[in-house]
Amino acid sequence: MTITYTYGKNLYVNTTNRCDMNCEFCLRASGDGVGSADSLWLEREPTREEILADILARDPSAFAQLVFCGYGEPTYRLEDILWVCRELKQRQYPLPIRMDTNGHSDLINGKPTVPLMAGLIDVLSISLNNGTARAYVDRCHPVFGEAAYQAMQDFTRQAAAVIPTVLMTVVDNMPAEEIEQCRKICEGLGATFRVRHYSTNW
Ligand code: SF4
Repeated sequence: MTITYTYGKNLYVNTTNRCDMNCEFCLRASGDGVGSADSLWLEREPTREEILADILARDPSAFAQLVFCGYGEPTYRLEDILWVCRELKQRQYPLPIRMDTNGHSDLINGKPTVPLMAGLIDVLSISLNNGTARAYVDRCHPVFGEAAYQAMQDFTRQAAAVIPTVLMTVVDNMPAEEIEQCRKICEGLGATFRVRHYSTNW
């Protein structure tokens, strides 16, 4: 089973296949693997010790970033991921640690989670996806309904105050007006806006 995989200059970490959304553009619908991974479907979730051992076996100092991003929403494994981050920080690897997330961590974990990430996560990349709660529900189908859209924004606002780099992303397969609407939302939350090219070839 694939826990770590490479894509470009980064080392990626696949910790879970659980997700509270079912986005219509999700890579999981277009193939089993990304980058060096043939399949990111896990036969079971790896333990925190297995995740750390897999990362260390790859020589983390050879990569530009370590990114928690696989075929699922990583904050389902938040406690374990933060344990791994703490272990890596203690070893003083210079590479920044990034997490790609849908921003629903507080709903998933049932508590405020941004303060737990401070000092351990260097970069958060949060999927904004849409310019309105209605469009978000229609395209991403969150189990938490429209409340997920507000929760994602609240999470971003809090993160922008304590995490060194906070990005919000959209994919470019929606109307230009909606992309502009997203840019305004992102800037209002104190995050940096990124438009990603929509592709099913990774
Ligand atoms: S939040 Fe991410 S993993 Fe979950 S369905 Fe959407 S794109 Fe896929």
